[in-house]
Amino acid sequence: MRSNIDHDVFINQGKSIALAIQVDNWLKAKGKSEPTQIPFGHSGLSHKPKSTEYKTGQQSMRESMAHSVSTKRPVLASLNKPLTKEQQRHKHNFEAKTAALAAGESTFEGKCSKHGETDYRVYASGKHYCIQCRGIITKRHQEKTA
Ligand SMILES: [Zn+2]
Repeated sequence: MRSNIDHDVFINQGKSIALAIQVDNWLKAKGKSEPTQIPFGHSGLSHKPKSTEYKTGQQSMRESMAHSVSTKRPVLASLNKPLTKEQQRHKHNFEAKTAALAAGESTFEGKCSKHGETDYRVYASGKHYCIQCRGIITKRHQEKTA
């Protein structure tokens, strides 16, 4: 009777188990129980340094999706769509923020959708905000809680 299962599969499976045992023994001999692995809840991606180049949400998503697919497969070519007005504003702020952080400054001239070109504050974490907008929000909050 012919079977459509390739018998090599079983041979390879046997070899694979034998190899796994060899690796295990070798690790034990070296005083290790298992190979160093990325800790639970972490991924290689989370250890990547923060990018200093502005990317739209779509570009970031495409990159992370492409990264999670096998590296052997062709990766989607990056799209170079013209940026919208809002994306251009974000890009300006991102680049100004990055330059300010690199120069060790905590403020930079950003573009606010409400206030136009104005002073922004930036934190080492990379968070930034329009100082005038923050002032308005803080004032409103104080009025509410007063
Ligand atoms: Zn503002």
